[in-house]
Amino acid sequence: MSTPSEANTATPTPGPAASGSTTRPSSEAQSADRPPRRTDPVPNPLPYLLDFYPQEDPKFTRISPFFVALRKGSFTTTRCDEDGSLHWPPRVACPKCRGEKLSWVELPKRGTVYAFSAVLGGAPLGMEEDVPFVVGLIDLHGAELRLFSRIAHTKHEDCRIGMEVELETFDLPDGRVFFRFRPSAPR
Ligand SMILES: [Zn+2]
Repeated sequence: MSTPSEANTATPTPGPAASGSTTRPSSEAQSADRPPRRTDPVPNPLPYLLDFYPQEDPKFTRISPFFVALRKGSFTTTRCDEDGSLHWPPRVACPKCRGEKLSWVELPKRGTVYAFSAVLGGAPLGMEEDVPFVVGLIDLHGAELRLFSRIAHTKHEDCRIGMEVELETFDLPDGRVFFRFRPSAPR
């Protein structure tokens, strides 16, 4: 460690001449020697493990019917044929009885904000330009489900617990479809 007085008097001397010198370059001079910090562009498409959105093709997931329905504007999930439990997210086996006899059922597309938060930084890769944005827990009307979602088309300053929201679907650049909620249009 350089003492402050050493650092003040140090004269950075490049090359071998510096070795054997009793003074050392100050930390400031060392950082000036480093190459500039590199910022890599976000790859597109994202590597699989960094992709926030789920795979939708039946080659990769057994809940692909959810995405097929979503593309048609239906919001669906699975219900267990044995014990009637409603799942979220959609499942291929019931978490309650482990049965695999499940049916696809339609969900309400409107709900109420139970809780919300603003993402002001540290967004997932590919969402940096969306910051700030709102995420929240939505209680669906008429279904015993509370689900996590982006809440679009609202500033976090304007978002309120108890606010009425409705589902909207949107297309991803690679052709996939996904959902989020937005403040309900007045009825
Ligand atoms: Zn079950």
